[in-house]
Amino acid sequence: MEERNEEVRGRCLECGEVLPWGRSDMKFCSQSCRNRWHYNEDGRFQVIRKKTIRSLDRNHSLLDSLVARGIRRIAVPDLEQMGYKFECITSYRKAGKHAEYRCYDIRYCVSDSNVFKIERCRQPYSLAGLCEDP
Ligand SMILES: [Zn+2]
Repeated sequence: MEERNEEVRGRCLECGEVLPWGRSDMKFCSQSCRNRWHYNEDGRFQVIRKKTIRSLDRNHSLLDSLVARGIRRIAVPDLEQMGYKFECITSYRKAGKHAEYRCYDIRYCVSDSNVFKIERCRQPYSLAGLCEDP
């Protein structure tokens, strides 16, 4: 009987205690559990957010140093070796038979093993689309 009630009532998202009877959309056993859960959720989000911004900044400075040295092509493993995180970009689109990626104002294409056409966009930013030129 008790087990059946647990199934119906669910458990607190924070502490895992069986929820008291109440509204069916109840997620927490108490206000303090609710507060603690939201505090932790926000903390986790802020950590992810800061890591992502750091990765984007690092990616941009790596691309920027390549552009400054006139390097327009580099092997994917070499760029990875330098610490580039391919999952951290600011936009992506299909450009002909290749995918074009952008990290702020620098764009590049990727084939199976190479990053190529690394270049600064002619128009660096617009508020909505970051880089507007085709
Ligand atoms: Zn709780």
